[in-house]
Amino acid sequence: MSQPILDSDLFVTFCKGVVSRHEGNWPPTEEELADEFAAFFLLDLVVLEESLALCKRVGIHVSIAPLPEGLHGINGSHGQNREVLLSTKEAFPGGKFHTLLHELRELLEYTFCDLGYPIVQSQELEIHAEEFASIARMNGANKAIEFLFEAANKVETNWKRWLAFAASIVFGYAYVLSCGMHSRLEDAMIRYKQNTQH
Ligand SMILES: [Zn+2]
Repeated sequence: MSQPILDSDLFVTFCKGVVSRHEGNWPPTEEELADEFAAFFLLDLVVLEESLALCKRVGIHVSIAPLPEGLHGINGSHGQNREVLLSTKEAFPGGKFHTLLHELRELLEYTFCDLGYPIVQSQELEIHAEEFASIARMNGANKAIEFLFEAANKVETNWKRWLAFAASIVFGYAYVLSCGMHSRLEDAMIRYKQNTQH
């Protein structure tokens, strides 16, 4: 049986790309890193399944198992072997997705360290991984909300259109609140208005 083709080097290629783009002004912010991560791997970052598929593609083994209380996930890396273990329990809806992004950020950091370009001090990695996961999910939510607004705008009957807008806002608030910051929804709405006012 033939082995599946893995793009494990892509993980390293991505990190090398970040280094080359930001070398003169190192380190990049978590926002820049999250943006470049989504763009490089063509991710929408709205659902867990998409990130699981990415892990499979780049050869990161992800499993889900019961973990001690308070532990949402762990990761390990040895050379090109990378592994993530997610807790069966979710602290909040979308918790597994958030944790997976958190663990991926930590794995990225190990690769940056191997390349000689650490982004953070090891004791700060936890905070940065959380920030990265929140930003990545919120960027994904912004795109999804803009898409819903666009779809709502195309509804022809007036009251149905407003209902669709309302549904988009309810979805957006629920999602963005789960990401930990609701100001992003306002940003998305402002940007949507600016984009449609010409
Ligand atoms: Zn962590």
